[in-house]
Amino acid sequence: MIPGIHVSVNGGLEKALDTLTELGLPCGQIFTSNQQQWKARTVKEVEVERYKSRTATIISHTSYLINLASSNKRVVKLSVPALEAELERIHILGIKWCVLHPGAHLGAGEDEGIKKISSLTRKILLNSPSDTGILYENTAGQGTTLGYTFGQLAQLLEQTSIADRTGICFDTCHAFAAGYDLSSEQAVREALIKFNSTVGIERIKAFHINDSKNECGSRKDRHATIGEGLIGLEPLRYLASMPEFKEIPGIAETPGTDSDRAQDIEKVVSPY
Ligand SMILES: [Zn+2]
Ligand SMILES: [Zn+2]
Repeated sequence: MIPGIHVSVNGGLEKALDTLTELGLPCGQIFTSNQQQWKARTVKEVEVERYKSRTATIISHTSYLINLASSNKRVVKLSVPALEAELERIHILGIKWCVLHPGAHLGAGEDEGIKKISSLTRKILLNSPSDTGILYENTAGQGTTLGYTFGQLAQLLEQTSIADRTGICFDTCHAFAAGYDLSSEQAVREALIKFNSTVGIERIKAFHINDSKNECGSRKDRHATIGEGLIGLEPLRYLASMPEFKEIPGIAETPGTDSDRAQDIEKVVSPY
């Protein structure tokens, strides 16, 4: 696994690259726009120049407001251009993948929600630069959020049906909270066997490496510092050491500062 962190972009997107250099990390995840606002941000020339000449592997995370499954028409109407704008920004920055929370159906039903997300994502991708793609992130299954079972992730990929521009960002805290035990090496192996037979592990293009404050199956999404949660350090180290994931980013989204997260991911990805 390539060690990375969710890295702050306070002061400009190029600051994230400086921070990664300072922390000695080859990989990071950024927000390319304010994640709590609908208003799209345009990328600055200086940011483009720095990103074009970077050596770090960067992925982006889309706005938390986007919900393609919403039964509220206004939210969908805002979500579609927001996701299109994200794909346009990452294209300009030379970033391949953005991570997307599939969405919450808010009562319309799970199958209906998945259908909606997939068909809109497909349309958006076909409308966007072909060097960009979307990673559906597995969720904890809080409320009516979708993508908390491996089966739902498989459905999303299958129905979106643009294989080379879609994949999965596998969040360890979310999977654990959704009911997939990851708290021992054996449990990690079993979860991955399940994932592989349902989705295919080759579809994983990034990991979010987080420990969990809540127990397995709680369906509550609260990230813990690595080693201080209910998953624990050793199973995450085991996962990070798997040769299948040698070239895959492993991003810590744990509490605290960029430097706290760097310490977290270094514990996980240091030689096994
Ligand atoms: Zn995550
Ligand atoms: Zn989370």
